[in-house]
Amino acid sequence: MKTSSSASPAHPINRYGSVGADSKEYAIDRVEAVIVDLPLRRQHFHASGTHAGQSLVIVTIGTKCGAVGIGEGGTPAGTAFWGGESVETIKLMIDRYLGPAIIGRNVFAYEALLAAMDRAASHNQFAKAAVDVALHDLVGRLLDIPVAVLYGGRMRESIPVLWALAAATFEADVEDAGRQLEQRYHRFFKIKIGKRDPNAEAQRAIKTAEAIRNISNEATFSVDLNQAWDEPTAATLLPRLQDAGFSLVEQPVPHWNVAAMSRLAARLDMPILSDESLWDLHDVFDAAARRSTDVYAVKIAKGGGIRRAYKGAAVAEAAGLPLYGGMALESSLGTAAGLQLFSALGELPWGCELIGPRLLAEDLTTEPTVYRDFEVIVPDGPGLGVTVDMDRVTHFTRA
Ligand code: MN
Repeated sequence: MKTSSSASPAHPINRYGSVGADSKEYAIDRVEAVIVDLPLRRQHFHASGTHAGQSLVIVTIGTKCGAVGIGEGGTPAGTAFWGGESVETIKLMIDRYLGPAIIGRNVFAYEALLAAMDRAASHNQFAKAAVDVALHDLVGRLLDIPVAVLYGGRMRESIPVLWALAAATFEADVEDAGRQLEQRYHRFFKIKIGKRDPNAEAQRAIKTAEAIRNISNEATFSVDLNQAWDEPTAATLLPRLQDAGFSLVEQPVPHWNVAAMSRLAARLDMPILSDESLWDLHDVFDAAARRSTDVYAVKIAKGGGIRRAYKGAAVAEAAGLPLYGGMALESSLGTAAGLQLFSALGELPWGCELIGPRLLAEDLTTEPTVYRDFEVIVPDGPGLGVTVDMDRVTHFTRA
């Protein structure tokens, strides 16, 4: 029974904007980060590494009134190879700098929380993103709305989702793609190449695509080099992939060589996508000005969180760059964050690659992410729209 003296605060909507004396109930009073180690179903090979597991950081943020938000952050494989951050640095940054920077502050003063984190720590986009995702879950739960509503509401209930072919052999990749097509999970395939001899790898990609097209003429293909080639190699081999019908090439050259990305974009009809070269909204502006990407891969992790990834998407929209929903191999929790944001973007012609839950052998939510008819379903419910299984989080927490 609720009385006027009840401890539970008034609906936060009533207090939205009054960041003064009456906002104490919404002050953040705890920020906790744990590392979880999850097994993958199969090894993931690409030009910059091989991994058999995925480590993530689970962030729990609470307010004085007892509300709790749970978010997830991580890097590809949880290690530092992709962008310098790892799950260990994420946890350290949150424990030592980012958490203390936001404790005591009003959870609804959102831009101020991001500014406080920036003052406490430069860079560390993946760590800030992990906190940002938990904050979004918390705000969504307090307002009793899905996070997508904060970004304009849903444009779509499900999103076409590609599959990464990363077994590194022709036979295994074709067999894998055959299963995905038969089960109607995926028909757009990103072939990961670049680890071995460039000519042989280009040939393997072409042969793989041909074999999969023989299974289904609905199949389409992109190729991800993960920075493996130098510019002359890319200039020689990418036109062959273009002629073979590949619809997109991702990051053929090292991340620092943005000028080469621009030159390759100028000589290819096939769109080129900057991934390792392009992190946050400022990079999107720069890439648009330099024409070093034809498509913007919106990624919450490297983009510094949901809010900043959304701003990056707005910059891309202004520049006429089509959007693609990227990932960093998240569980169903981090995937839900991607789904909330991507579902609210105006146009998403390239779909998404939110396949973390299908690659992980274990998950962290009570209900798994749903994949159906070549699309991934956007979850319903407040916040990120998923329920975290805390027993599983505890079970997989690193000692
Ligand atoms: Mn990539």
